[in-house]
Amino acid sequence: MIGVINKKLEGDLKKASYVRKMFEQGEELRRLRGADKIFDFSLGNPEAEPPQSVRESIARHAADGAPGLHRYMSNAGYAFARERVAEHLAEQSGVGVGAGNVVMTVGAAGGLNIVLKAILEPGDEVAVFAPYFKEYDFYAENHGGRVVPVQTSAASAFRPDAEALERAITARTKALIINSPNNPTGAVYDEACLRELDGALERCGQKYGTRILAISDEPYAKIAYDGVRVPQALACFRNAVVVSSYSKSLALAGERIGYVAASPNIEGVGELVDGLVFCNRVLGFVNAPALMQRVVADNAGAGVDMAYYAERRDAICAILDEAGFDFVRPQGAFYVFPKVLGGDEEAFKDRAVAHNILIVPGSGFAGPGHFRLSFCVAADAIRRSRDAFLALAAE
Ligand code: PLP
Repeated sequence: MIGVINKKLEGDLKKASYVRKMFEQGEELRRLRGADKIFDFSLGNPEAEPPQSVRESIARHAADGAPGLHRYMSNAGYAFARERVAEHLAEQSGVGVGAGNVVMTVGAAGGLNIVLKAILEPGDEVAVFAPYFKEYDFYAENHGGRVVPVQTSAASAFRPDAEALERAITARTKALIINSPNNPTGAVYDEACLRELDGALERCGQKYGTRILAISDEPYAKIAYDGVRVPQALACFRNAVVVSSYSKSLALAGERIGYVAASPNIEGVGELVDGLVFCNRVLGFVNAPALMQRVVADNAGAGVDMAYYAERRDAICAILDEAGFDFVRPQGAFYVFPKVLGGDEEAFKDRAVAHNILIVPGSGFAGPGHFRLSFCVAADAIRRSRDAFLALAAE
């Protein structure tokens, strides 16, 4: 048979089919054993509903029938939406971000793709701290680049090491992606850490005569526990490009709304923003969803109810503690990344399934020997999963 898809995609589909298989296995188990019997901790799709103010705003804009509500606008997004995002970021970071530094995007995923398309030459490298969100591999490859992982470990609470980063950077490194609060570890990088990383990027840039952007992928920026403050990448990195979205902070993942903000301190930032706007267009996004731009402009400072996630984090950590798992208590996001018991990840995943627990093996995040639990699920399901975790650990 003559293949219809390209060879690279054939390979990618094989890699991606693992996640699909897990999803199908979950559906099958729900059908066979009953949905209420299955404890599905595999997906990062918030169970929370958007805040009331967001729902009201959606209803109001949809009903008001203003002329042009559904038309194209500038590829960068509405000026008022960009202004609101810029005001919010400037207030939080103390850096003079203006509307001209902001592009509204189709989620953080769309944002990452326009940034990488704008900066990568074929063969360029993007440094990333592992474990990491593996979609970065595909996003870099979309634009001719490749991810270079820099390992972190549970022993140091997944804190990035600036010296290890410096060793991994080459003349081909165009960017570092940081993700704090982190998927899958729940780590939040402190300010001193970000400043050390900035120092490493500056030194390497001077060594190779390059400029290495710090892309801060921060869809979880508003989800942090125990009063932990998430430092502002714009304030800590000279060449910061913030990529964020309202998928998690306002539980709007399906509405695909986010933004990119490029620091005014980047030399040539105007050219970079022009490039981002063009890439938004030619990647086929054209512009971020119109209605959602209005909604997030109304709710720029809003966030989910933190008590909601804190309750779930505490409940799952208590169960893991009681069952004797070795894990780093998450400071942010809604994931925890414990070590598997018994060494073999695949066998552990199968044993978990036998106890009706669905998890993702750590290799799916370049973090072998671990598994990821996503606790953005019903609090009641977490409580009911206790016996299953105790039995799994006792095995
Ligand atoms: N970056 C990370 C680390 C994520 O976990 C996700 C989604 O789960 C994304 C980016 C994509 O977010 P969005 O839905 O805003 O495109």
